[in-house]
Amino acid sequence: MTDLTRLTAAEIAGLVAAGETSAVEVTQAHLDRIAAVDERVHAFLHVDSEGALAAARGVDERRAAGEDLGPLAGVPVAVKDVLTTKGVPTTVGSKILEGWRPPYDSTIVERLRAAGTVMLGKTNMDEFAMGSSTEYSAYGPTRNPWDLDRIPGGSGGGSAAALAAYEAPLSIGSDTGGSIRQPGAVTGTVGAKPTYGGTSRYGLVAFSSSLDTPGPCARNVLDAALLHQAIGGHDPRDSTSIPAPVPDVVGAAKLGASGDLTGVKLGVVTEFTGEGAEPGVMAAFRESVEALAKLGAEIVEVSCPHFQYALPAYYLIAPSECSSNLARFDGVRFGLRVGDDGNRSLEEVMSLTREAGFGPEVKRRIMVGTYALSSGYYDAYYGQAQKVRTLITRDFTAAFERVDALISPTTPFVAFPIGSRTADPYQMYLADLFTIPTNLYGGPAISVPCGLSEGLPVGFQIMAPTMADDRMYRVAAALESTVGTFTPPAL
Ligand code: GLN
Repeated sequence: MTDLTRLTAAEIAGLVAAGETSAVEVTQAHLDRIAAVDERVHAFLHVDSEGALAAARGVDERRAAGEDLGPLAGVPVAVKDVLTTKGVPTTVGSKILEGWRPPYDSTIVERLRAAGTVMLGKTNMDEFAMGSSTEYSAYGPTRNPWDLDRIPGGSGGGSAAALAAYEAPLSIGSDTGGSIRQPGAVTGTVGAKPTYGGTSRYGLVAFSSSLDTPGPCARNVLDAALLHQAIGGHDPRDSTSIPAPVPDVVGAAKLGASGDLTGVKLGVVTEFTGEGAEPGVMAAFRESVEALAKLGAEIVEVSCPHFQYALPAYYLIAPSECSSNLARFDGVRFGLRVGDDGNRSLEEVMSLTREAGFGPEVKRRIMVGTYALSSGYYDAYYGQAQKVRTLITRDFTAAFERVDALISPTTPFVAFPIGSRTADPYQMYLADLFTIPTNLYGGPAISVPCGLSEGLPVGFQIMAPTMADDRMYRVAAALESTVGTFTPPAL
């Protein structure tokens, strides 16, 4: 009998549409898998078995009634706990929102439901999406299915681990500085950060509003494109949403799968090819570049001189925005409230709530951001970082006059052991060295598995111009057609 948890999303939808299996059977198979392995992996913070089975029954009924179901109907999906889900706990990996059940669905979740996908539950993440390993979750770390003693990346480690552990065929992440792509890279899965504004932030708990971008995660490129298509596009409830249709990402993934890249010009980022990266990662990257050349792509080197300042600029801009966004967690409106005994002032209750509810990394960022925005320091820090952001955008614009897309490894290193980087925040920040420039620019980028180093997955990053998300899917699918997909050792 086919193991339904091993199928691609496209295969599952095909079987459901043909009546060869039911959405309920598929959902039950994934719930069983979660029950069998998630105690070890801890990808999920909340499993909504009842809600999932009810949604699956709805899909089966619609099929029985002869309705046209769409390309992802009946496919289970896991959702990062940063997105609001009506009546279903949403914690953002933080104690400050423990027990909060939002009164509304985020746009992404609404679209997932409309597409007939079945939401299995909410996945673990670094608190408020701040981190690169999921070790900063207030609810304990997620483990990498390739090696349970290693991190699954972050902040969306739960969404990536759920795919690699075959607990879900699709998942949703959010990418502010790399949190979709970096977990994808270290778990051997595909993660795509859409163009900023190409996917709605309505109902996405804000970290850094000018950077936050929800997006698709999957085990292969076509599935990621199908999910991207389902969740993307204009949303009038998000003022930064782009009023344009989603580029034809599904068509591009199918085109790329033919393995022909004739006429496509790719730029290797000079600044991202050595220092700070593990030799095994660079070796897998170079082999993949050769593979792309064999498929007909023209490869050139492109210098992006300001990319080296992306990390410091990001670590001023993101904390600045977070210090403002997180002011709403005051113990009055949502979740946790500490010390409200009738004798304390409002300020004391707020202060006790924030002291108990936020973890160390979140506090660090609020303090850095408050400092960078304070009068007297604003121009020296925040203002300067914004200027660097402009220079990085100009690097991208100049590069895309010469090439169709830029390429690099996704991360400088493979999955590291749990506990090995938490002592020094800077070591953790380095995980996003290659992913952050894209967020500052606002364009799309995808990570696709390209090989192994020391038995662990290596990710290949493709960065495209804004609103040319289709281009990165074409190149990613072409690479996948020659290197294949990667399966972790059995759990
Ligand atoms: N690791 C980066 C950070 O800690 C990026 C996080 C993200 O993309 N959400 O901010």
